[in-house]
Amino acid sequence: MLDINELFQEEYAVLEDARITAANASLPADECREKLWTVARHYQRLIRESYRLISRSDRAERELTRINDELQKLAARLEYEATHDPLTAVYNRSAIINQIDKSLLDGNVALILLDIDHFKRINDEYGHPMGDRVICALVSRVRKALPEHASIGRVGGEEFTILLPRARIEEAMIIAGYIHASLNASPLDCLADQLVTASFGVSLGAKNSDFETLYSAADTALYTAKKRGRNQVALHEDFFRPTMPHFSTALAANSLHLD
Ligand code: GH3
Ligand code: MG
Ligand code: MG
Repeated sequence: MLDINELFQEEYAVLEDARITAANASLPADECREKLWTVARHYQRLIRESYRLISRSDRAERELTRINDELQKLAARLEYEATHDPLTAVYNRSAIINQIDKSLLDGNVALILLDIDHFKRINDEYGHPMGDRVICALVSRVRKALPEHASIGRVGGEEFTILLPRARIEEAMIIAGYIHASLNASPLDCLADQLVTASFGVSLGAKNSDFETLYSAADTALYTAKKRGRNQVALHEDFFRPTMPHFSTALAANSLHLD
């Protein structure tokens, strides 16, 4: 630790001597000149030391800024890793649940559960690393089909949850149908010789309802979609209204089913 008093001890002594000299009117000129030279020498040293201290403090400030930047980057990376799935980069289970809980405080929330069809076969036939690539490619296609305000999370294995805040059930059905159609439009690049499809369960939670109830309703609808032959969208029965025009169109096209 730098002791400023110690660093400038000599200058304090010279300063004191200069004051005494200045107060002494009878001192001969030669002696005064000698004292002035001493003051000038020390003044010069003072300037040199000041420069050194200033550049030292500049260096310390730059180093502090660098450490601070690194800390901020580290905190952002830790925050990202704590909330994102390492394979697909979508929200992880706890982060998407958190988002859903928050959205439920704000208004109605629609949930689309997506589970890849016969995924075990892909793993068995092509190996686990190819299975991973298929999951990533499918997620990337799903993302392209989602509106900006939607969030997607991986709740486990090859099952994903799509959160639509402040949504109506009609909107959720249209988006689920859109994702369904986009998966059926063409194979994924990494597995060009076959379609990878998924089944979808759709439900809606009213404002202030809880995640468990909403998730369980969407999961029941997903189970229905699987049971009815997979590669389709199923809406939880609580929300079926036969008068909804796009639902009847979709039903006629045999791509949407009711729980
Ligand atoms: P279903 O149509 O009924 O959904 O049939 P499925 O074969 O997809 O059955 P299920 O959903 O139960 O199977 C999930 C499989 O996904 C089992 C597990 O080995 C595999 N899996 C889970 N997570 C991963 C992963 O991160 N990478 C890979 N490659 N496979 C995974
Ligand atoms: Mg599956
Ligand atoms: Mg599954």
